Amino acid sequence: MDITFEQVTHVYGRKTPFEKRALNNVSIHIPSGSFTSIIGHTGSGKSTLVQHINGILKPSAGRITVGDFVIRANEKKQNLKALREKVGFVFQYPEHQLFEETIIKDVCFGPMNFGVSEAEATKRAEECLQLVGLPSQLWHRSPFDLSGGQMRRVAIAGVLAVRPQVIILDEPTAGLDPMGREEILSLFKDLHERLNLTIVMVTHNMSDAANYSDQVIVMDGGKPLMAGAPERIFSQVDQLRKVGLDIPETMEFLNRLLDRVGKKETIPAFTINE
Ligand code: ADP
Repeated sequence: MDITFEQVTHVYGRKTPFEKRALNNVSIHIPSGSFTSIIGHTGSGKSTLVQHINGILKPSAGRITVGDFVIRANEKKQNLKALREKVGFVFQYPEHQLFEETIIKDVCFGPMNFGVSEAEATKRAEECLQLVGLPSQLWHRSPFDLSGGQMRRVAIAGVLAVRPQVIILDEPTAGLDPMGREEILSLFKDLHERLNLTIVMVTHNMSDAANYSDQVIVMDGGKPLMAGAPERIFSQVDQLRKVGLDIPETMEFLNRLLDRVGKKETIPAFTINE
């Protein structure tokens, strides 16, 4: 599903002393089937931006199109349930939302909430728990017996079991160690490739954005500053540092980036701010 923002503005606490324009006339395009990373300094509007994609937030002005769904400012009657069935949202620390007495019941909750029968939901839950690599001997245990990384997989299986076409990830690796991070991101990369899922990931980790996505959008002060392929975005290191982004100088990061760039016909200038 193609996602388009047209002149979208979002103001929190309108006409209060706390009024804050978190998005300012944003126009962006996220192509169907892409893996897009949204990067930017804290407070630049990343979370606000992605929460418009499944209607958690409504725009104060402008419109968002997600496939056939259109979300406009001031529109009262909207079929958000149908939109949310297509756009899954993995919140930060999604494991905090687990609540059922068994893992399998927790994963069934999402699809059953969208009207899927218990038998079908169970079938999907088993499929998705397999997809996220959770051993079947754990499925009938309490989710609270699991490690943090395993609980996160269960929460992700719950989102996948609804069978969305788009998945929004808000800092999906927050709090995980490097191995857990790599595992979760490889899982999404694999799902993206196998199921042609469109993925939109908010991240503060530049290596993750460079390694896993095919499009990067840089937010700054409620506006997109740049958008494009990671090799193009990360070749503008000086500009990224100016907007407060932490670009690592480790050889590992540069080598991986140069590896990717090397596969393209044109090699953009790569400058490092010493
Ligand atoms: P990011 O995800 O890039 O850190 P956010 O989208 O969370 O940025 O926030 C953008 C701006 O909007 C920030 O200045 C933040 O303080 C403000 N903001 C976010 N959520 C709210 C809210 N619920 N009420 C008021 N202001 C908010």
